Amino acid sequence: MEVHVQPKTRSKMFCGCSVAEVNDPPNTHVCEICLGMPGVLPVINRAAVEASIKTALALKCEIPRHTKFDRKNYMYPDLPKGYQISQYDMPMSVNGFLEVGGRKVRIRRVHLEEDTGKLIHAGDELHKAWESYVDLNRAGVPLMEIVSEPDLRSADEARDYAMELRSLLRAVGASEADMEKGQLRAEPNISIRPAGSDALGVKTELKNINSFRALHRAIIFEVERQQKALESGGTVVQETRGWSEAEERTFSQRSKEFAEDYRYFPEPDLPPLEIDRGWIEELRAGLPELPAPRRSRLATEHALPATDAALIAGDRILADLFEDATRAGAPAKQTANWIIGEVAPTGKVPSGKNLAELIKLVGDGSITRDQGREVLMESVETGRTPAEIVAEHGYAQVSDPSELRVIIEAVIDANPKAVDDYRRGKTQVANALLNEIRKKAPQANPKVARELLLKLLA
Ligand SMILES: [Zn+2]
Repeated sequence: MEVHVQPKTRSKMFCGCSVAEVNDPPNTHVCEICLGMPGVLPVINRAAVEASIKTALALKCEIPRHTKFDRKNYMYPDLPKGYQISQYDMPMSVNGFLEVGGRKVRIRRVHLEEDTGKLIHAGDELHKAWESYVDLNRAGVPLMEIVSEPDLRSADEARDYAMELRSLLRAVGASEADMEKGQLRAEPNISIRPAGSDALGVKTELKNINSFRALHRAIIFEVERQQKALESGGTVVQETRGWSEAEERTFSQRSKEFAEDYRYFPEPDLPPLEIDRGWIEELRAGLPELPAPRRSRLATEHALPATDAALIAGDRILADLFEDATRAGAPAKQTANWIIGEVAPTGKVPSGKNLAELIKLVGDGSITRDQGREVLMESVETGRTPAEIVAEHGYAQVSDPSELRVIIEAVIDANPKAVDDYRRGKTQVANALLNEIRKKAPQANPKVARELLLKLLA
C-alpha cells in the first residue's frame, strides 16, 4: 500500500507559496519556483522534513544519516517542470512497522516529494469542443509517501491500516490527514495468488483513493476482477487503474511505468541532507503517546469497552478531552458516550471541565439529556460553562406543580417530625424542608416549590 499524506506546513515543499485551501481560486498560490520557470532554485521546507521525521519515528523506522532528493522525469500537463522532485534510493526513512489488529505491517519507506497540479476538463458534446484547464495551486505542495511491504491480506486489513495510519499522523501532529481535503490518498497495489503459494501475482495499482469506504470497495472489486480473469484462463496486466465511485468499478488508466522509465537522477539544485541526530532525538522525546498504547491504556484504566476505547484513542483531540473530563470527575462510561454520541459527530469540542460539568448536570437530573445536548452546543460556541447556560435559560427550573408535587411529598414523608413542628406553629421549619427539596431537586423553581409545600403542609 502506498499512502500519500500532505504534511502540516504553511508553505509548499520547495518555495514560499502558502498552501491553498480546497476552494481557493485557481493559480493564486503559485510562484516562479512551483511554476517550474527556468533558472530558479528550490529550497527544502524544514517543517515538511520535521513532519516526515516524526512520522518515521512513530512508525519505528530507521532514519539514515544521509538522504537526498531526485528528479523523477515524466511529461504531463499538470507537471510544469517536466519532472517531479521526489526521493529515489535514499529516502528519509526505512524499515518500520505499524501494528494493525495485532499484526505487524512492515513499512518499507517514508519519503518526501512534491504534489502535482490539477487538470480540469470541460467538454461541449454539441460542438465537439473540449478544453482542459490547469490549476497549479497544488503543484509543489509537500507530500509524504508511506510505502508498506506486501503484508496486507484483505480489504478489511487495508482499510484498518489506512485508518490506523491516519490516527497516528494526527496524534504526532504530522498531518491533519483529512481525506475529504485530499490530505490522505491511498494507492493499494493488489495481487492475488493460489493458496499456499509464496510468489506474489502480477499486481495492479489503484490510484488516488480518497475515502476509507472507497478503498474497501475498490479492493474487493479488484480482487474479484483478477480472480475472474485468471479463472477464465486470462491474465492480469500490470497497470494503473482508477476507481469509479459512481459505477463502483475499477478501470484501466495506463500501463504501469517501471522505475527506469522515469530516468531518476539526483536533484542537482538541492544539497543532500545530513539530518542532525540531536534534532531527531529531540523530536523523539517530544512524541506524544501513540494511538495503540493509548487505546489499551484507556480500556484498562477506565474499564471502557474496546470499541469505545478505539474510537476515542483514534483521535488525539477526543482522547485528550476524555482524559480531561474524567480527571475533572466525570464517570468514564458516560463521558465516552457523550464524546462518541455528541462531540465526535459535530466536531465541536468543549473543554474537559465543561464536559464534566455538563455530564454532572444531566446525571443528577438537573437537566434532561436533550437539554444537555443544547447546552453542550451553546457552551462550545460561546465558551461559557454549562452551569451558566443552564442558569440563564432557566432550564434547571422545574415549575410544573405536578412534577414538583412528587418530590415535595417525598420530602414531607421523610421528615415527619419537622412536619409535626410546622403544624404546631413552628412555621420557620418550612425553610429546612425547602432546603431538603432543593437538595433532591436543584431544578425546582423555588417560588412554585414554596407555595406548593405550604399548601401541602396546611
Ligand atoms: Zn511557489
